[in-house]
This record gives sequence, structure tokens and C-alpha cells, in this order.
Amino acid sequence: MSLTLALSKGRIFDDTLPLLKAAGIEVLDDPEKSRALILRTNLPDVRVVLVRASDVPTYVQHGGADVGVAGLDVLLEHEAGPYGGQIGGGALLRPLDLRIARCRLSVATRTDFDYQAAVRQGARIRVATKYTQLARQHFADKGVHVDLIKLYGSMELAPLTGLADAIVDLVSSGATLKANDLVEVEHILPISSHLVLNPVAAKLKRERIRPLLQALQSAVSSSP
Ligand code: ATP
Ligand code: MG
Repeated sequence: MSLTLALSKGRIFDDTLPLLKAAGIEVLDDPEKSRALILRTNLPDVRVVLVRASDVPTYVQHGGADVGVAGLDVLLEHEAGPYGGQIGGGALLRPLDLRIARCRLSVATRTDFDYQAAVRQGARIRVATKYTQLARQHFADKGVHVDLIKLYGSMELAPLTGLADAIVDLVSSGATLKANDLVEVEHILPISSHLVLNPVAAKLKRERIRPLLQALQSAVSSSP
């Protein structure tokens, strides 16, 4: 019974590696040195596939991978989107918070934009973001009118160029915002990466997945 694990390169790969190691899985290929997208592990029945961070839920939902690691931002945005429902595969299972790649989803603006006043006055706020579903939900809950502008990267540029009044983006240290003269004006959601399971694999490969889940669980509880 083989197991395919979907990871994205960069911080998720780097932060998942020690947890996998504690669970007895060692990845044999280094994604920074090779162009291979399928990586071997020390276990002949376990392999890792490298996909874009935002593609992890899609791979796992449709069975391209049995297990995956993805940020809560990506998972919630996927669930709320047009492809996140039950069509073509059940809903993803999210059994374990790995507590890695921690940051928060926030609203940020230029330092000279008075966000609270705009909200109070009921102004229409132009918001640029990669997370249109999460942003839509957040501002709808607050009763704030927004025009959403979908971007795929470099969100910080949007308020600086006049494209938008605000951005909804991930913040960790705040250094990127600061370097671009932006300020965080509202926290939306704390973020970390979670383990996700394909619901069919969770049943059919239960015997193989359960010990992995338990080992990861104890690795997470014993990491700082
Ligand atoms: P892609 O460029 O492939 O669309 P990405 O740039 O979002 O993906 P990463 O930057 O590797 O990919 O981010 C992966 C996940 O790590 C995010 O979904 C988020 O959960 C988390 N993350 C992103 N930025 C930070 C950060 N500054 N600090 C901590 N965690 C972060
Ligand atoms: Mg990135």
C-alpha cells in the first residue's frame, strides 16, 4: 500500500522535513539540487510530490496525493472557492495542525490612509489580495463595502501605486510591510500549516495512515 505526500517547496518543505524525520520518513532527494518533482524517501512505499502551495488541496482532494501539507490560508481559500466543494471527490480532511509556517492574515494600508475612518464612514474600500474568498467573507462579516482586486503576488505594491487602498495578505514579522511603508490595521486570522487527507485514502489506507498520523502528532507536541 503506497503513500503519496504532497508538499510545496520552500518553507513548508523545510519545516515538514523534521516532523517527517521524527515519524521515520526521510526524504532522499534535495529539491533545491534536483529538478525532479517526485522525491524518494527511505521507505519504498512512501514518496513526496512537489506542487505549488496553492495546488496542494487540489492534489489531495482529487487523489493525486493521499496526504498533503498546506497553510490554513490556502486551505480555507480553496474550500470557499468554486472548486472547493464536494464535486469530484469528498471534502478534504484536516486532522492535524502541524504548527509550522505560522503567520497571520491581516489587512494593511499605507501609513497615510485612515482605515478606521473609512470603515466608520461606510466608504467603499478597494482591497487587493490573493485571498479574494477570505477577504470577501471578512469584510462581509464586518459589513464593510469593498471592491476586491485579485493579485497573484507583490501585494504590497498595490497601495503604493494607487491600485488599491488596502491589501489582505500574510504577515509574520511585519518587515516586508515596514520596508514598503505599510501598516497592519487589522488581524483577520492566525495561520499555520495543517496535514490534509484525501477522504477515500483515509478509509482505504487507514492502516498505513494511522501510525503516520500518530507519529506526526507526537512530533508536533514535542516540538517547541
Ligand atoms: P506560490 O508562490 O507557489 O503560489 P506561496 O508563495 O504562497 O506559493 P510560500 O511562500 O512557500 O508559497 O508559502 C506557503 C505557505 O506558508 C503559505 O500558504 C502560508 O501558510 C505560509 N507562509 C507564507 N508566508 C509566510 C511567512 N512570512 N511566515 C510564515 N509562514 C508563511
Ligand atoms: Mg511565495
